[in-house]
Parts: sequence; C-alpha cells; structure tokens
Amino acid sequence: MADRLWEISLELHRNPELSHQEHRAAALLAGELESFGFSVERDVAGLATAFVGSIGSGASPRVALLLEYDALPGLGHACGHNLIAAAGLGAALALQPLIQATNGSLLVVGAPAEEDGGGKIAEVEAGVFEGVDAALMFHPGVHNWSWAPLTAMLELRVTFHGKAAHPTGNPQDGVDALNALIRTFNELDVLRRSLPSGSHVQGIITHGGEVTNIIPDFAQGRFALRALTTSALDRLVDQVRACAEGAARVTSASVVIENEGATYAHFRSNPVLAGTFSRHLARLGISATEPQPGVYLGSSDIGNVSTTVPTIHPFLQILPPDHSDHTPDFAAAAGGEYGKAAMLAAAEALACTAFDVLSDPAVVEHAWTAFNEQAAADRSG
Ligand SMILES: [Zn+2]
Ligand SMILES: [Zn+2]
Repeated sequence: MADRLWEISLELHRNPELSHQEHRAAALLAGELESFGFSVERDVAGLATAFVGSIGSGASPRVALLLEYDALPGLGHACGHNLIAAAGLGAALALQPLIQATNGSLLVVGAPAEEDGGGKIAEVEAGVFEGVDAALMFHPGVHNWSWAPLTAMLELRVTFHGKAAHPTGNPQDGVDALNALIRTFNELDVLRRSLPSGSHVQGIITHGGEVTNIIPDFAQGRFALRALTTSALDRLVDQVRACAEGAARVTSASVVIENEGATYAHFRSNPVLAGTFSRHLARLGISATEPQPGVYLGSSDIGNVSTTVPTIHPFLQILPPDHSDHTPDFAAAAGGEYGKAAMLAAAEALACTAFDVLSDPAVVEHAWTAFNEQAAADRSG
C-alpha cells in the first residue's frame, strides 16, 4: 500500500488546512477507511473535522490509532501531520484483514486541531478513549526518539482594574492598572529563580493603557505556564496567582485571573508499548533512543490522551538535529523522500505494535500495570 499511502500524504501536503478547517483531509481519510470496511462516525466530540473509524468485535483489547492532519498558517505542513495521518491510516489498513482473528477491536481516531485548539482534549472529554487499551501514533521530527518530552501547559489571562485619573492633575485619585501588571512581571522574575526544572512562565502584555495623559484603569496580560507534570502545573498556577494578587494588593487595583483555553496534560509515555514499537522499528533498521535529558518540546493534546490510557508518541527523524519543525525546511521534508521513508516505517511499526496489543493479553496487562504505576508517581511527584 506504500504508493497509495504516499499519494494520500502528498494530497494532504498539497492542500494544507488549518486547525478546525480540515474538511478535505477528514473526508479523504474517513472515505478511505470506509472503502476498507470500517464504519465511520463523523462530527465526533462536537468537532466538525473529527471522526472515529472502527472495525472488529467492539470488545477488548481495543487499540486506537491517532491521525493528525492540521497544518500551520503560512507554512503548510511544517509539522508533518500529513505523515502522521498516512502512517496511522496505513497501520489501520494493514490490520484490517487480521482483526477478525484477534477478537479485539480497532479504532482510527481522526484528531483535528492539534496546533490550535487541542482536538484530542475534546475527544478525551467526550469519552472517545473509553475502553481503549493502547493509543498509538508517531510524530515526524529531527531525532529518532522513543517518546516525546512534552510538558503540561495552560494559559492564564490576568486582568487588572484600576481608576483613571490625570497623571499630573489628580494623580492621587488614580489607581494604575498597568503598574499592577508590571509588578506581576517583576514578581514572576523573582519566582522564576526558584522554579523546578521544566517549570516555566512566559507572559505578554495585551492591554497597557490608551494614552499617556490618563492613568490606565485597565491592563491585561496573558501568561503561558508549563511544568513537567500536571500536579507541578497546579502548584505553578497557585504561585502565579499569588504574584498577581500580591501586585493587586500593593497597588490597590483589583485582579481577575481566568483560564484561557484548555489545560494540556504532560505526556506520559507507556514504557511497555514504547518498547514494543522501538523493537519493531529496530527490525526496520531504525534505532530510537531516549530523548536528550532536559530537553522539552512544548506541549500537545496527546498529553491528555496519555494520562487517560496507555499511549505512545515516538519521534521519527525526517531532518538532521540542527533543524526544527514549524519551519519551511520541515514542510519540504514532510513532502519529500525522508518524510516518505519515516511514514512507511512508522506505519509498519504501528501496525505491528497494534497487532501485539490485539493478540497478546500479556502486553495489555503489562501496559496497564506500567500506566497505573506512572499515574501514582505523577500524583505524588
Ligand atoms: Zn506542530
Ligand atoms: Zn505536530
């Protein structure tokens, strides 16, 4: 099926669609699944470009293959999601003739809006992964890594309300909302020095006053908070809140702190499934290593899947390590020979990993044991 998969991958690559607008991609992938006997549910989790294809008995074990297919503004498929979609589809089509023999079931989850919106978070909340024993996908990258170091993340909108006054006429009557916001940034500079590894705050000012002859009565900023685990993120949220509330008290401004968008969980790689995937990959001549310690690659909605069911998200290299995704080079590689080779290797290793889960109850049991141990460690850590 290599030629057909590559054709589909290039079709997506030539027609990049932004998050939540991937109508052509979703129709193409869902249609392909239907022509191979999968039944497809569309508009899943309230998302017009999400779908779930399924085949098999409906019973356990249940494997979910995840397909991403959104692109980036101005850069096309610079995150290589066209390769993720084709690899997941390829694995699903390879498993189709074998599914009856396993008594298990296979889901193909069309997961839109990874770049902007977090489609998988809505899918987790809608129960798409209920009863799933293994959620499998790969991502193209600049390393061959058996798992992805992805942090927990959320965004806060911090709004200060003060009191307008003339800066020289009646400054004593004013409450400077911008001053409170700047103090928050300064407090965060102090906080930063004591944060644990992987915890990080980045802020921007979105409103800081209108004119210089009025003391600003309104100031607003947005802050992205990241941490190694969701529990560490909870602690960081409390600390950032304390900084903003302290600044409000000192300046007599009032503060409103709100969550902006969804909370991304950290990625918890399942060692049993990641090991199985890496062994199949090694058979194909690709050796996947552990990620470089201390390197974190942002956040993704696969984190929320991974803290719900055993999950893998390995990286396969399509460019040398001195490159990066979200660049024109990466977009070119995602439509070139290296992208094709990584996609086909991923399709094969994903199919073999899925088959191991579907046919060997010990793999399922060990994967869940490891998952539960990690969940306990994350709660205490
Ligand atoms: Zn991306
Ligand atoms: Zn991506």
